[in-house]
Amino acid sequence: MSWKDSAAYKAYSALGERPRGLEPWGVNNAGEVVIGLGELFCRCNIADEGEEVELCRKPRFSHTGNLRSHVKTAHKMKVAEVRKGTSSGSEGIEAEKFYKAIIKKHDALGADYDPNSEIEQTPGPVTPSKPPKKIHRPLVPRKKDRTVNKSQMRKTAGIGKWCPACKEVKRTCPGPKGSNCKAWEAFTSESESESESGTKI
Ligand SMILES: [Zn+2]
Ligand SMILES: [Zn+2]
Repeated sequence: MSWKDSAAYKAYSALGERPRGLEPWGVNNAGEVVIGLGELFCRCNIADEGEEVELCRKPRFSHTGNLRSHVKTAHKMKVAEVRKGTSSGSEGIEAEKFYKAIIKKHDALGADYDPNSEIEQTPGPVTPSKPPKKIHRPLVPRKKDRTVNKSQMRKTAGIGKWCPACKEVKRTCPGPKGSNCKAWEAFTSESESESESGTKI
């Protein structure tokens, strides 16, 4: 079985983001970056000298060849050549070990390792919606005989001869109570005023 078929490598190559706890690359004696077999994530340390290690934020590369050219062009680093024909032997075993270690560390560090996930998505303080302001509307004006004083109603409501609703249906304004007549909207209904009278301050 090839190292590429190992569970560890399959898990590694399925990761959308760099595995947690990934170490930056070292360089060989020639000053070249040694990219392992099948590596898909850039491990270049992009932090300034003396600062905490910060790996390149590039997401997973589709294959190692792309990663190699990225390291050469984006990071201007020399990359150690892959020795041909050796990947089936000891290097394959090394690769399998390497990915096992990466996945083990990734799993051990857990999802809360990601600093972004530490910011809990707590909902903001719930602002109670204010109750609608009570508009003090006058009582429906009535004549001495207790019938509705329609002309006084229109006057109080600031309506000319008709409100728009009554004009549209060609009826005398105010129209019947409970209709869409705008004149009624300016007044308080008797039942409303009764319940309010007791609570007035
Ligand atoms: Zn990079
Ligand atoms: Zn009307």
